[in-house]
Amino acid sequence: MEKIVIIGGGIGGAIAHDLALRGFSVVVLEKGELCCGSTGRHHGLLHSGARYALHDVATAAECMTENRILRAIAPQAVEQNDGLFVALNDADMVHYRQFIINCEDAGIPCRELNTVDARSMEPELSPTIKAAAQVPDATMDAWRMAMHFFASARANGADIRPFSEAVGLLANNGAITGVEVRDHQRHATYVEKADMVVNATGPWAGKIAALLDIHLPMKPSPGVMVSMQPRLTGMVINRLHPAGEGDIIVPQRNQSILGTSAWIADDPDAVRTPANHVRQMIDLCAQMLPQLAQLPVVAAWSASRPLLVSATEEDPTKISRASQVIDHALADGVEGLLSVIGGKATTMRAMAEKVVDRVCAKTGRQIPCATKHTVLKHYRRFFRR
Ligand SMILES: Cc1cc2nc3c(=O)[nH]c(=O)nc-3n(C[C@H](O)[C@H](O)[C@H](O)COP(=O)(O)OP(=O)(O)OC[C@H]3O[C@@H](n4cnc5c(N)ncnc54)[C@H](O)[C@@H]3O)c2cc1C
Repeated sequence: MEKIVIIGGGIGGAIAHDLALRGFSVVVLEKGELCCGSTGRHHGLLHSGARYALHDVATAAECMTENRILRAIAPQAVEQNDGLFVALNDADMVHYRQFIINCEDAGIPCRELNTVDARSMEPELSPTIKAAAQVPDATMDAWRMAMHFFASARANGADIRPFSEAVGLLANNGAITGVEVRDHQRHATYVEKADMVVNATGPWAGKIAALLDIHLPMKPSPGVMVSMQPRLTGMVINRLHPAGEGDIIVPQRNQSILGTSAWIADDPDAVRTPANHVRQMIDLCAQMLPQLAQLPVVAAWSASRPLLVSATEEDPTKISRASQVIDHALADGVEGLLSVIGGKATTMRAMAEKVVDRVCAKTGRQIPCATKHTVLKHYRRFFRR
């Protein structure tokens, strides 16, 4: 049985689950605690895809498909609360009809609401909204969602090792043979042999590739989120305009999570949370829910998107959220190394399917993916063997 080593404990959980179901021997290496990267710290929006409807219909459609699948296979990680898109001014209204048409094209159920009905559903909405539409967005528990995948992977035999950092990639005659691992709990370094390695380190993916002098066309794009109390809405509230900054409010338990900003960074380990971004999130989101301007900030933090760099588009809010699996045998002459970058937490299962389809193709196995229909183990199973 081929041994596949996954580096990265975020969407790496979904990859481990799929690999284990298809009969591979699996090891996951994570340098910190599981989900300590973007996967455990994102906004918590299970996208319907409507956010991308105006500029990336393919990503919008993929989000809707995966939204339905995750609701079915991980119901305990999702609050089935829906989302509202609200137009605030005439500039937003210019996009309204196209938004409705594109949602339909992407297969996203979208219900047009008059402003009176929208405000009776969500009374904290600004009284000056011009239009609203309801879509199947949902609140997800970012950490629980990912841990459902890790629990299922471990139940099927995957060996999951937090606090285990990949510090070197080993290759012989142009083919990967293993990973040099620093065990931060035992303060020891060892070699983990591997038939293939999957680089699933998200914003750190460029650093892993650089261990073999490979250049990856990606950059970390951080964003700031702000948590305020209390929870003001039942539904997720989005601004109806081309995706930008400060235009999403996700209700999460008793809090309202505002976000997000976007900039391009060089090093995911050096990202901070700029104070002016916190103020900006409150000011922009208060245009949709005016009461936010009066509420106390509970916490503010940032996380980084692993974005594919585009030669033609420098605005990180406009770069596609599509994911890509890079086979370094084709791209760089290194056999046995795949990198997966881009995507969303909402599409982690689909990203894993793409990766494992590639692993199967390279190892000559013809085993179909079963993750669409396999209900995940509860995240608690990860801790109770
Ligand atoms: C501000 C913001 C808001 C977002 N909101 C949403 C949202 O609401 N909904 C949604 O669907 N998506 C959202 N996303 C996108 C989503 O968070 C990411 O697409 C996804 O979490 C990326 O997962 P990943 O596994 O690729 O990266 P990560 O989760 O960052 O995982 C990479 C892991 O690799 C580990 N690692 C790095 N180097 C090494 C090494 N040498 N050895 C071992 N391990 C290593 C890191 O510690 C990390 O845990 C948001 C992103 C941002 C930035």
